[in-house]
Amino acid sequence: MPNKLQIIYTPNSILRQEAQDVAVDQIKSKKIQSLIVNMKETLKVTPDGVGLAAPQVNESLRIFIVSEEAEEIDRLELKKQAAKGVESEDVDSYEHREWKYYVFINPIVKKTAKRKLSGTEGCLSVPGKFGSLARQEKIIVEAYNEHGKKFTRGATRFFARVLQHELDHLEGILFIDKAEELFNSDKS
Ligand SMILES: [Zn+2]
Repeated sequence: MPNKLQIIYTPNSILRQEAQDVAVDQIKSKKIQSLIVNMKETLKVTPDGVGLAAPQVNESLRIFIVSEEAEEIDRLELKKQAAKGVESEDVDSYEHREWKYYVFINPIVKKTAKRKLSGTEGCLSVPGKFGSLARQEKIIVEAYNEHGKKFTRGATRFFARVLQHELDHLEGILFIDKAEELFNSDKS
């Protein structure tokens, strides 16, 4: 049975460590497989989050997961832009379904676009805070998936932002280090 893991909050020092590579022949081990299953469960029951890195659940390993909801957010944004000036109700939201999760193990950045986009970010390990910061508009990442297979994934806009946020977690960097402006969540 998958377990929800406890999320570690700042200023816990594990969030500030450089995470360790996973030995490729260990990806299929019980330890790594159950960590991934439990990370998926944790994100599933944490509706505010679209990504989760292993250091956030107290494992200093180079693993993170991203919900396909991030892609849905990008699709919605494009729809909204296309519908600009047109009154429309159906572009304001998307269906919340059971999301799939993309797993990135030992990710390496292959390429980034020079152009940056500003946007708002939050983090499950920094509750109640949001910040605006610029991230590269596009990124290409190479990583292993949970089956131990190497893959390359390109991402743009919000998905690219989430990847950069999660990659930072593996270096011990939090979005609050980079934010131009920080503000408190008004729901807290
Ligand atoms: Zn985070």
